[in-house]
Amino acid sequence: MPTAPLFDVPVAPLLPVEGVSAGFPVHRIFCVGRNYAAHAAEMGNTIDRAAPFYFTKPPTGLVLSGGTMTYPPGTEDCHHEIELVIAIGAPAFRITVEEAAGVIFGYAVGLDMTRRDLQQAAKDKQRPWDMGKSFEDSAGIGPIKRASDFVPGRQRIELTVNDAVRQEGELSEMVWSVPEVISHLSRYYHLTPGDLIYTGTPSGVGPVLPGDRLVGSVEGLSPLTVAIGPAA
Ligand code: MN
Repeated sequence: MPTAPLFDVPVAPLLPVEGVSAGFPVHRIFCVGRNYAAHAAEMGNTIDRAAPFYFTKPPTGLVLSGGTMTYPPGTEDCHHEIELVIAIGAPAFRITVEEAAGVIFGYAVGLDMTRRDLQQAAKDKQRPWDMGKSFEDSAGIGPIKRASDFVPGRQRIELTVNDAVRQEGELSEMVWSVPEVISHLSRYYHLTPGDLIYTGTPSGVGPVLPGDRLVGSVEGLSPLTVAIGPAA
């Protein structure tokens, strides 16, 4: 067996946790699709109430609050999606909705950046969404607040771009609740501490441009501020 790496590769940043000096190490990033009815409608989709569905993003593509996202290559329509993020803090496999609260480490504000033109092309051809969703700097995340200090309910979720409100909603509008998403996902994966789950976006998604300043907020959580940098 090899004893040393041939070269260094990018690693995910440690995520800040409010009131704690140690950082939250990231294992995987799962994202829920179409979890707010108003957003599904604006994209021309209906909600499939049978089950949620997911895509993933690379943890090395995380940008912390205060950072800059390079405008991604290969797109002319990069969109913002503001989301509540669940940080998993205990192993979870085939757990019930009732058990889900016990595996949540905390919550953060997140951005699911999307190359909408590439996602739409993939949808049209019934191909995977990876090119549209999974790329460098494709996920923003703010500081994590411990689950003991935050319970999702009717909190407002909002995104401004250059101080103009673009997206707004309430966490209670989620089609699948936080415990339902965790329970469902745990049927298909051994969730582990370090996993993140982006829980879907309210309506109002739209394009960003180099030079834009995005501020995402969820009432009760630390805001997420990112700048959009020059195109790659
Ligand atoms: Mn999303």
